[in-house]
Amino acid sequence: MEDKKILEVKDLVVSFDTFQGAVQAVRGVSWYLKEKETVAIVGESGCGKTVSIQTVIGLNPRKNGSVKGGQALFEGKNLLDLTEKEMRDYQGNELSIIFQDPFTFLNPTMTVGQQIMEPYLQHNKVSKQEAREKALEILKMISLPNPEENMKRYPHQLSGGMRQRIMIAMALICNPKILFADEPTTALDVTIQAQIMELMNSLKDKINTSIVLITHDMGVVANMAERIYVMYAGEIVEHGDVDTIFNHPRHPYTWGLLGSVPRLDKKIQEDLYSIPGTPPDLISPPAGCAFAARCKYACKICKTQKPPRIDFEEKEHYANCWLNHPEYIRRNGVVRREGGYDGE
Ligand code: SF4
Repeated sequence: MEDKKILEVKDLVVSFDTFQGAVQAVRGVSWYLKEKETVAIVGESGCGKTVSIQTVIGLNPRKNGSVKGGQALFEGKNLLDLTEKEMRDYQGNELSIIFQDPFTFLNPTMTVGQQIMEPYLQHNKVSKQEAREKALEILKMISLPNPEENMKRYPHQLSGGMRQRIMIAMALICNPKILFADEPTTALDVTIQAQIMELMNSLKDKINTSIVLITHDMGVVANMAERIYVMYAGEIVEHGDVDTIFNHPRHPYTWGLLGSVPRLDKKIQEDLYSIPGTPPDLISPPAGCAFAARCKYACKICKTQKPPRIDFEEKEHYANCWLNHPEYIRRNGVVRREGGYDGE
């Protein structure tokens, strides 16, 4: 039996009005998440991945009129139709989020214990004592050392890794159905990053949650996700399961992301590859492929016409790139960079 989709985002369009014009941050994005699954949305800063999830969970205020279209169906309800007051019943309860920088997110004037208890008290009819016991239970689950003592501390008295564990405890205390993790390890050093990823993986099974992971780091994705959506300039440009995206990528932007991951088999003298150029201005996005100005394969049509979505033989693998169009292949043959980008 097919796993049930717990969240389905369809044709989401978000833009923000500025003095220079409307910034088209998310341009018709569709993705879904199945029960107990981890899905990664990957792309550079400014590609619209954070805006997409913040819109879904109501952190991007609806009143400002930035949501121009689309649906976010959670258990049959379109979250985009709910008022901010109605959304508060879901936030921190069935839908939780872990942010990138715990130091900015945590309140410096409250002990971490109070902050962990807060969502539990807000969403459940329980006493402070019950909330305290629940907070302690969750801190033990996330293996925070000396939980009783650390609950009485303020954020500045804890290390970066401990603060991120506190954020995870806050996000999990109400047993969310979906946990959104927005670059959860970016602000941490590499050894702590590995611990936090391992912790999230183990907790996912313990509390039966589904995870949407937002990151620019393909290394993090490899260890956690089952499927990947690659996002560029407010659009999904490639989708597939982890094995397919890592071993049979079909979009030059994905090749670039994969080529930017440090590899042990590379010579130490070799420079780490980086994608040349910068993303386009989303106030007036290009008429054709948004990646054309940075793509060494770009041809005439790429600059004038949007590449269509092409589906491949692997399950649900697709990419929006002219290189995969049957007519292009008929004339030029298949262009592939198996296993990554050559960086030439
Ligand atoms: Fe490059 Fe053209 Fe493909 Fe865009 S459509 S990624 S410019 S080859």
